[in-house]
Amino acid sequence: MQCQSQPELEQLVAEARGYARLGKAADYIPALQKVDPELLSVSLFYPDGCHFTAGDGNQKLTLQSISKVITLALAIMDRGAEYVFERVGQEPTGDPFNSIAKLETINPSKPLNPMINAGALAITSMIKGNSIKERLDRILDFIHDLTGNSAVSYNAEVASSEFETSHLNRALCYFMKQSKVINEDVEELMELYSKQCSIEMDCLALAEMGCVFAMDGFNTETEKQVMPRDVARICKTFMITCGMYNASGEFAINVGIPAKSGVSGGIMAAVPGKCGIGVFGAALDEKGNSLAGLKLLEMMSRKYSLSMF
Ligand code: GLU
Repeated sequence: MQCQSQPELEQLVAEARGYARLGKAADYIPALQKVDPELLSVSLFYPDGCHFTAGDGNQKLTLQSISKVITLALAIMDRGAEYVFERVGQEPTGDPFNSIAKLETINPSKPLNPMINAGALAITSMIKGNSIKERLDRILDFIHDLTGNSAVSYNAEVASSEFETSHLNRALCYFMKQSKVINEDVEELMELYSKQCSIEMDCLALAEMGCVFAMDGFNTETEKQVMPRDVARICKTFMITCGMYNASGEFAINVGIPAKSGVSGGIMAAVPGKCGIGVFGAALDEKGNSLAGLKLLEMMSRKYSLSMF
């Protein structure tokens, strides 16, 4: 079963919208406070190019943690899976995304997975290039291949807001530098990571990226294999096991789709072989997931039988 019309989707958005009032936008990155937390938008993108957008559709969002899936794919392409997973683990943590606790208690300070901040920072440090600019351009080029849109860039205001306030992320980096998981200058890595997290697009572009993962790395619009099938498989597996922070188990039960959320309130979902979904609603629950976005995905999963399980 698939979505047949935009009014159908508008109806679901209208039902989910009210949940936003129960949460609030992230405030630890000051620039993220500037959006209206009650806005909610969703896009669906199918492999044949058919797409639907509903709600406050033309809103732009920054990727935040959604970018972790993108850099993971690029790091595996740059370094190979063996190199990557010698340094970053493959297990869910059950801890908040920015927790430092396991870095100290797990020997030898190997971050548990690429979807928590510690693991994502280590992954970003693996992206090849001779300068921060070249590495950021490589991330952006990959995103241009995923979205088929070469205009996608980063939001400089959000990037500098994060760069100036990322004390905890810096602490994670220094911890990992001590144990040689990270070997580069921490300020440079923070600059690259803040810019990567601030890459900005609308829900439709998010859905298009989701569709490439859903189609095993093949962009059906540009007819280009953007990443090897196996890389897409690894990314989708992490999206299932740790993509929705420490609510990933509950999400797997209630929605059952590989998905990755970010503290901006965005969610990118990849329904294997079927479609990509992009959602944006800035009001978050206590775990960092978009409250109305989660509800909307739950309703869509039930209505269109999207669960893999
Ligand atoms: N830029 C954010 C941070 O590192 C991303 C976190 C997230 O979206 O979960 O704090």
